Amino acid sequence: MAKVLCVLYDDPVDGYPTSYARDDLPRIDHYPGGQTTPTPRGLDFTPGHLLGSVSGELGLRRFLESAGHTFVVTSDKEGDDSEFDRELPDADVVISQPFWPAYLTADRIAKARNLKLAITAGIGSDHVDLDAAVARDVTVAEVTFSNSISVAEHVVMMMLSMVRDYLPAHQWVLDGGWNIADCVSRSYDIEGMHVGTVAAGRIGLAVLRRLKPFDVQLHYTDRHRLPEPVERELGLTFHESTADMVPHCDVVTINAPLHPETEGLFDDKLIATMKNGAYLINTARAKICDRDAIARALRSGRLAGYAGDVWYPQPAGPDHPWRAMPHHGMTPHISGSSLSAQARYAAGTREILESWLAGTPIREEYLIVDKGHLAGTGAHSYSTR
Ligand code: NDP
Repeated sequence: MAKVLCVLYDDPVDGYPTSYARDDLPRIDHYPGGQTTPTPRGLDFTPGHLLGSVSGELGLRRFLESAGHTFVVTSDKEGDDSEFDRELPDADVVISQPFWPAYLTADRIAKARNLKLAITAGIGSDHVDLDAAVARDVTVAEVTFSNSISVAEHVVMMMLSMVRDYLPAHQWVLDGGWNIADCVSRSYDIEGMHVGTVAAGRIGLAVLRRLKPFDVQLHYTDRHRLPEPVERELGLTFHESTADMVPHCDVVTINAPLHPETEGLFDDKLIATMKNGAYLINTARAKICDRDAIARALRSGRLAGYAGDVWYPQPAGPDHPWRAMPHHGMTPHISGSSLSAQARYAAGTREILESWLAGTPIREEYLIVDKGHLAGTGAHSYSTR
């Protein structure tokens, strides 16, 4: 019997919801490109309910406990005396979400003597030390595509809200004002702007597709070039590198994984090559940007706006400089955890567990590390040191 240790974010401050804004979710059975949405053998939750918080339990308790497994759920993940650390030594499986990551460092992997499987309920497994997972033969899997469109929608929302300066205008309304000049003195149209994405994978390409009708000039850079018909359909300009692309762009969106090649990519030097007054949207990973360089660029005006939902560490402390820098549109890490996304990644987590517990293969597209190597999606998108 397995012990499954699951780290989830806290319930809402006013308690676990007893009702929801909408009755149901649209039915989606496949993603762009044809991959099917998760296909677990059963589901013990209502799609559209809050599953990603502690009381939601990713809808897994009945499934696991009825088969005799032990299921521990906690939000307490920081420090040596956290519940996560106390429960880790004999856990066979760890489940964590990028929004509230249980950092599986090399030290923790060494302490987790039974650990065989680390599941990311969502996408982005950089909170797991992949080198240590490779060395210890821990399988790492994530629910590929489960929230890619959720993030793409968030990126477009943030881009428009930054360029049009939506958030300060909304604040004027909350404050009882009607200050049109204050509201519009930094407000532009995105039409005609040059918008570039660092990476055109699932999210990056979905962002490009959503932006096309806004009549913008679209740019991208990626390690692999998109098929020529896609470039033609969307009118894309390809650049060999991020450094080549950013000087051309009014708006840059980062949609690449965090790995040694991308860590610290947006530093003072790169930002100095961007257009004065460019906007940067980062929903990928915070460490792709140099934290202090971003704050400096907003203060100097080199960047006109920065928005995203990814921080380091997570949760970010109350004195994190990004909370107080000017012209930002940061949210906590939420873009990939809409109720719609939760239904998919909870089902995908169950699908992965069903396969692993039955000893049958986990879908190739869910794999990041398997049998001591980068595998599946991991082999394509990640690198180890
Ligand atoms: P994909 O794997 O579909 O796409 C990632 C793309 O990045 C691939 O095309 C890959 O290239 C490319 N890439 C990798 N390294 C570089 C580089 N150095 N320069 C340019 N391109 C690079 O991932 P997704 O689109 O699904 O997700 C992207 C990232 O977004 C995730 O890794 C995760 O960190 C983040 N994310 C954030 C979420 C949130 O809630 N905020 C939720 C989900 C994901 P190639 O394929 O050619 O190797």
